[in-house]
Amino acid sequence: MKDLVIIGSGPAGLSAAVYAKRAKLDVAVIEKAPFSGGQIINTEQVDNYLGMYRTSGFEMATAFRAHADALEVEFLNKEVVGIEGNQTFAVKLSNGDVIETKTVLIATGAKYKNLGIDSESKFKGAGVSYCATCDGAFFRKKTVVVVGGGNVAFGDAHYLSKICEKVYLVHRRDVYRASKHLIDLVKSHENVEILPFYEVKEIIGDGMVEQVRLIQNQTKEEKIVDASGIFVAIGMEPVSEFVNGIVDTDNRGYIIATENGVTSTPGIFVAGDVRTKEVRQIVTAVSDGANAVASVQEYLQ
Ligand SMILES: Cc1cc2nc3c(=O)[nH]c(=O)nc-3n(C[C@H](O)[C@H](O)[C@H](O)COP(=O)(O)OP(=O)(O)OC[C@H]3O[C@@H](n4cnc5c(N)ncnc54)[C@H](O)[C@@H]3O)c2cc1C
Repeated sequence: MKDLVIIGSGPAGLSAAVYAKRAKLDVAVIEKAPFSGGQIINTEQVDNYLGMYRTSGFEMATAFRAHADALEVEFLNKEVVGIEGNQTFAVKLSNGDVIETKTVLIATGAKYKNLGIDSESKFKGAGVSYCATCDGAFFRKKTVVVVGGGNVAFGDAHYLSKICEKVYLVHRRDVYRASKHLIDLVKSHENVEILPFYEVKEIIGDGMVEQVRLIQNQTKEEKIVDASGIFVAIGMEPVSEFVNGIVDTDNRGYIIATENGVTSTPGIFVAGDVRTKEVRQIVTAVSDGANAVASVQEYLQ
């Protein structure tokens, strides 16, 4: 019987592991991917984490994992497929094994929704980005395409208009979910061209993004724009399918929690991008990990 099982070893899970080990809890971390680090593994450069200026996501993930390894945290490279129980919990793994634990910390993150076209995965990290504030600076004085019609897409277009020479904002409809204020702001930028009723058909380039093939979804007319980058801002989704009713989630699947990671189920805690929160970044995930372990300690006592 473990004191704590942490599911996921991204920034939130690794931070929690360090805090749990230092609190002398009997803790195990379960990670389905071959490497720890979560989303940051694929981030070419991280510029906004205090004290680690211009580090690659991979370097950062390696440093985070090394810290946990130095404290001899127990890791299992397995996928969690379910959690059962109430006062104590059985964490079920994809190979059929079960780990018994007094508490569970879910730190399984969130993933950006993909466009779902073949060429998208080919150019990930080579011009295809899901985070304008993270990667916008790489496209200084260049042309980029932003895809989406919500606050994130319009926020990205506004942010990128100050860095890039030209921004195309592509949306499949002519109705936008973004706030009116943001829409008006973006429309006021001369270097932003809004293309309603367009969808991305193909991303073209030799190693790096060079062009984006669009299709007007009513007339079926195709249009190719020269662009060095494409920012996909069509939303994010949490990795929470496996919780299957054991904790409350909002209508998008994010696990409802307090700032201290306390969920609707006593003994189950949550940290990082998978919980309800405003800012999903490395620094907030790392903070969540520490806060959630404080809640775990309080609960165990
Ligand atoms: C392309 C990109 C660039 C970014 N750039 C920046 C940046 O520059 N600065 C910044 O602050 N933030 C950036 N972010 C956001 C940042 O990466 C996230 O906020 C952060 O990684 C969240 O950490 P997390 O631990 O909550 O989740 P994640 O990083 O998503 O980690 C979750 C972990 O859980 C594991 N997992 C999931 N399900 C299971 C399961 N069932 N069983 C076992 N393991 C499981 C996953 O494999 C993963 O390792 C970026 C994100 C992306 C996608």
